[in-house]
Amino acid sequence: MSLPWVVLDGSWVASNRDILPMLRAAGTRYLIDTAAWRFQSDSAFGVARLANLPHAPTRSWPELPIDDFQRFIADDLRFQASLGAAASLVPGLIPADRSADLAAHDQAASSVVEQVCFEQPLPAIATIGFHTQGLDGAEQRLESLSSVYSAVYVQPTPIDPYRDSPDKLGNVIMLLQQIQRQGREAIAGRMGALTVLLRALGIAAADGGMGAGEAFALNAKLKAPRPSDRPESSTPRASNASRRYLPPIKRSVSPDVVELIETTPAADALLRCTTCCRFLAPNDRIRRGREHSLLARVTEAQQVSSLPPSMRLDHAEREWQTARRTATSLNTALREAGHKELPTEHLDNQLAVLRQRAARSEAA
Ligand SMILES: [Zn+2]
Repeated sequence: MSLPWVVLDGSWVASNRDILPMLRAAGTRYLIDTAAWRFQSDSAFGVARLANLPHAPTRSWPELPIDDFQRFIADDLRFQASLGAAASLVPGLIPADRSADLAAHDQAASSVVEQVCFEQPLPAIATIGFHTQGLDGAEQRLESLSSVYSAVYVQPTPIDPYRDSPDKLGNVIMLLQQIQRQGREAIAGRMGALTVLLRALGIAAADGGMGAGEAFALNAKLKAPRPSDRPESSTPRASNASRRYLPPIKRSVSPDVVELIETTPAADALLRCTTCCRFLAPNDRIRRGREHSLLARVTEAQQVSSLPPSMRLDHAEREWQTARRTATSLNTALREAGHKELPTEHLDNQLAVLRQRAARSEAA
């Protein structure tokens, strides 16, 4: 599989540098994400991988003088560059509510980038977090964004592409299209579930996830550390099972649902992976959920990108209509076997948003 870009977890890669020469040899460029926005809250200091970052701040952002905030940004950019990142992912804040004013922090970060880029000429990617009820504020921040940035990583909160309404998803996509019109590349955070639709609408990238990380809610993330954030020795994994992306119905499901489908022959026939998992035993298929999900997402993204731009919307529309028919047959199979049906409203919502944004783009 050819992977043009990957995003690596900063603290993980700091102690797993062996992966870097392998990525470079494969022609894969990488970004280093230190998840610095989590220092918005004191809870970050209870997360070992964040607190152990060599340049971790001494206090959370709201408590930190702006000079120290700038020092952190500079150290973070140097840390990324020291690991060979292909671009600087500039830490940014995500507003906790619609009224938060982040202009001072945006400006402080961009003035650091101007200085650090002088030492290390890497393309800079801004991180713009915004509350999905505060779209106006996000538009203003984008309008006043420094010209030092060539791309913007956008993290809406809260966002859940499997459950959100067409209007809510449409507003987020409108913002992504605004970034592209400004001549910058937009990267949609935690919207991997929409990769094909976003590509069809001209958005450069979405972080794909591997069957997980497909929704985002700041307030939940800033609460007490999750078990997976604690040091490895204290978290014995009960099982290797992971979530799995099912391309025929355009959604990921939990290991329990994977098992249910595999043991329902009529359902399994509709969803079975005939490529990377073709020769795997059932247990191995469950274990390899992450690899399968990544491969399936990348394949779908590459399929749509290989088409001329004029054909991408039709391709996406056909894919989603086929998925709706498959989902109907799947639920019939599950019902007849006495199982609960899977939710399918994401397909209608996403198809509606595709049509809505495509129509607006044509009218513009
Ligand atoms: Zn597979």
